[in-house]
Amino acid sequence: MKILAIESSCDETAAAVIGDDCEILSNVVVSQVDIFAAYGGVIPEVAARSHLEVILPVIHKALKDAVLTKDDIDYIAVTHTPGLLGSLLIGTLTARMLAILWDKPLYAVHHLKSHIYANWLNARVEDNALSVQHGCVSPHLKNRRKHSPSSQATILHKKSLSSVSVSSQSDLPEFPLLALVVSGGHTQIIYMKKHNKFEIIGTTRDDAVGECFDKVAKILGLPYPGGPSIAECAKAGDVNKYRLPHPKVGGLDFSFSGLKTAVLRAVQKELGVPINTPSYELAGKLAEQQRADFAASFQETACEILAEKLEMALEAHMGVKSLVVAGGVSANKVLREKALKRLSVGSDGISRKVYFPELKFAGDNAAMVGAAAYYEILSGVEPTDPYVLNIAPRQEIA
Ligand code: AMP
Ligand code: MG
Repeated sequence: MKILAIESSCDETAAAVIGDDCEILSNVVVSQVDIFAAYGGVIPEVAARSHLEVILPVIHKALKDAVLTKDDIDYIAVTHTPGLLGSLLIGTLTARMLAILWDKPLYAVHHLKSHIYANWLNARVEDNALSVQHGCVSPHLKNRRKHSPSSQATILHKKSLSSVSVSSQSDLPEFPLLALVVSGGHTQIIYMKKHNKFEIIGTTRDDAVGECFDKVAKILGLPYPGGPSIAECAKAGDVNKYRLPHPKVGGLDFSFSGLKTAVLRAVQKELGVPINTPSYELAGKLAEQQRADFAASFQETACEILAEKLEMALEAHMGVKSLVVAGGVSANKVLREKALKRLSVGSDGISRKVYFPELKFAGDNAAMVGAAAYYEILSGVEPTDPYVLNIAPRQEIA
């Protein structure tokens, strides 16, 4: 089975070819992060136009890297929900067009499913495999990089895939499992009884945790995207310097907007300025050590909140065999350490494995879309009609 997968839900244009057992035959990602670093966030119209510029060269490169032609492809898969409307449209319309022209079955994949299934990619990477290369052969993409010097196409070649830690096929997550999805737009705990069965048991009532990282980074004057900037800055900080509150949300739900406001108030208090001082006036007044201490205290609190809720979820779902962490924030080291330390053995004394995607698969990519489609196909899900498939900027996983 060979699946050509396409992802364009936010600010990464990506295409990959996935083979049997989720083997990665090629994986191409062109990120717009450098474009949006200048603005401090994603501008949807600009993102859509950037996708349009590169999507065909990216798909072409994915086929070329896999040493395949369209005739070798059995299925096409694409992210159709949730995400930015214009961004989703570019990937979805491209996939529909290819499915019709090439007469291939089309699978429409939910973005959060893909993030979860990034954890099934790990085990499939060959040991002599993956090194990350920067640059892209397409002249079109080369020109684009000239305009935006630090923007990079990250290309993972099957044949040069080395530095990746390899797990065996038996080292895949086992069901039933709990998935913590932590991204720029979502914070959810999902119970999976088996492949392709999702039950949301906890969700954020306001901001997503990634969004909170991004907003706190802005308050502290750290560059976009906020998650990696905060993680880096926090290395020099004291996690106990500032006491930040844990939200009082019942059950397994989350709330992160209060934590963001708590950081804002704590910064204002530390600087001795009134609470109506706008956040953009604060960063310039912070000393480096203060910034690091705020970053460290915030990161610790945010990750602690996630770990606490996961502990509660595990207590409420005895018999869970694996814990899977997914989405952009799953790259966070403090979260990884907390999850491994606190959740590998539950209060029931039962040990369970905790899975994270390889760092390169934590952010948006198309290999994970292919992995999700692979398990949809194996689960007997019917393909979608390429003439009618629509996008949905917001839609729950189901
Ligand atoms: P996604 O929505 O899944 O593409 O993930 C993007 C989100 O992940 C953004 O909000 C980033 O700030 C966040 N993120 C990326 N890396 C990290 C990290 N190391 N720590 C915390 N958040 C991160
Ligand atoms: Mg994402």
